[in-house]
Amino acid sequence: MGSLYRIEDVDFHYGGRSVLSIPEFTLNPGSILGVVGPNGSGKSTLLRLLAFMADPAQGKIFFKGVDGRKITLQQRRNITILPQEPYLLKRDVYENIIYGLKIRGDRQNLNSRVTKVLDLVGLPEQFAKRSWRELSGGEVQRVALAARLILRPEVLILDEPTASVDVSSAQSIMEAVLYARHRWGTTVLIASHDHGWLEQVCDQQIMLLRGRLLDEEVVNMIPGPWMEQADCGRVIKRYPGGEIITLSMQGYNGQDSVALLPAESLSIQIGGHKGINSDSNISADNILPGRITALRESRRKEIFIVEVVAAGSLFRLRTTANRIEIEGLFPGRRVKVILNCEHVRWL
Ligand code: ADP
Repeated sequence: MGSLYRIEDVDFHYGGRSVLSIPEFTLNPGSILGVVGPNGSGKSTLLRLLAFMADPAQGKIFFKGVDGRKITLQQRRNITILPQEPYLLKRDVYENIIYGLKIRGDRQNLNSRVTKVLDLVGLPEQFAKRSWRELSGGEVQRVALAARLILRPEVLILDEPTASVDVSSAQSIMEAVLYARHRWGTTVLIASHDHGWLEQVCDQQIMLLRGRLLDEEVVNMIPGPWMEQADCGRVIKRYPGGEIITLSMQGYNGQDSVALLPAESLSIQIGGHKGINSDSNISADNILPGRITALRESRRKEIFIVEVVAAGSLFRLRTTANRIEIEGLFPGRRVKVILNCEHVRWL
């Protein structure tokens, strides 16, 4: 299978400052890719480049093997982006939804197609008559998404689609995304802070950090707030369930810092003994009871990623097929996640 996108040595600048630098990345058609990372890490910039709304300062982005600078208008029209704050025409919902079709000169069966996409985003047929003025934030997102879905895009790019919507809108957006991939083979790229939502919809996630791509499979992000214990050079996070994490303050920059822990600094305890990646240098605080939610094959041969939800957060660890068998690791199994606090990086 040929790749849909290939990024080679891409660099993007704002005012001479590099905000995105990606040596290599490929994406297969039909993927649903999540892009995560803190504010300002370059997610929107990456999405705009993949929508060919801007050109990289250096490097190339290939779409189906064609250099992005040479793709045709026709190909570009197969890629549609829903920005974080979508703009609606000051007209009714119907006019907004058919706008893209109209500019493509496609006027066939408009009524039934509008009804279909409204249904896909969980809105009733009568909604077509609503004025743009009468929509809530979640409805604006859904109408704007319907206006993209009616085009049956080859690539659908969503920038923070659930940022300002309620739970039922987030669910409708998820279902519409899965439908588009299933029925039309649409490839979907989604930047979001909504980790739980992304987990349910994406089959692959990448993480951006200050414009650099990290392998999301192997980095755990632990957000603050943190309490400082300057006398012993440590910071503490207390989870609502009473669990406590204590980390080294080295490189820490404020109570809202995000701690990054590589998969190697986490291990699993099963029963009374240490499990994978065991390390004897661990403070008693950093033990979080949880449950294995998934075992995934890594892109690296023979290596598996164990996902554990503990203290309401998702943690990722690395292991081998052999250890999965010996330790009896399986989804649903209760385990303890042990954090080795010495390998923290702060963001
Ligand atoms: P994210 O989507 O992860 O929040 P962005 O891609 O929006 O990140 O931004 C990446 C970096 O580029 C940030 O440092 C941001 O301040 C900067 N940036 C984004 N848009 C502009 C712009 N129009 N002019 C100058 N700098 C920008």
